[in-house]
Amino acid sequence: MSDFTLETAKAWMSEYARVLDEKKEYLTELDSPIGDADHGTNMARGMKAAIEPANLDQPDLGSLFKKVGLALVSKVGGTSGPLYGTFFMRAGKEAGETTALDGAALSKALHAGLQGVLDRGKAELEDKTMVDAMTPALAAFDKAIGAADLAAASAAAAEAAKTGAEATTPMLAKKGRASYLGERSIGHQDPGATSTEYLFESLAASLA
Ligand code: ADP
Ligand code: MG
Ligand code: MG
Repeated sequence: MSDFTLETAKAWMSEYARVLDEKKEYLTELDSPIGDADHGTNMARGMKAAIEPANLDQPDLGSLFKKVGLALVSKVGGTSGPLYGTFFMRAGKEAGETTALDGAALSKALHAGLQGVLDRGKAELEDKTMVDAMTPALAAFDKAIGAADLAAASAAAAEAAKTGAEATTPMLAKKGRASYLGERSIGHQDPGATSTEYLFESLAASLA
């Protein structure tokens, strides 16, 4: 089984920045009825900064994800910046000074990232947030890594993230701006869960 390497991580971050730029209007559209119509521009701006050479040219996975996280915290603004920033900083701390992770170690790093989002945002499952895409994505990844290679496991994670993002539509938002709308938040897909879908689709693309 091939490992997740520093090169894979750089390709992942570059692909995520590319996809966010491509989908920024759509993400902002999702953030209009249940937010303030800035999620796409926020995330595209943040990842554009994150993949600047000063951030991407790092000697190990720990430093790379830490730099990406710091860039997101400082450039995104809004709720999602600190949350995605924490995701990457915690994942980097778990990964440490290494240039390759096997499936189990990558899973550990991603779980540390998710735990950071939970610690910081205090969202629970079905609160209609990015957590509703991240949690099933990691469950699918963990289920697949025993039997499949990293490419197949990350493809399974991406599929589960997409299903998770779509499942936010009928949910009543309990966190973030969308929660201010109460019942009126029902019937709209969550923008943050959708950008998390793209995060895992980008990971799968970088490993394919
Ligand atoms: P803002 O709402 O500050 O404008 P964004 O529009 O960039 O920030 O991000 C909104 C997204 O952040 C939501 O769609 C949701 O997925 C996510 N979010 C909001 N609050 C939380 C939270 N407490 N925990 C996890 N995710 C959250
Ligand atoms: Mg917003
Ligand atoms: Mg905002």
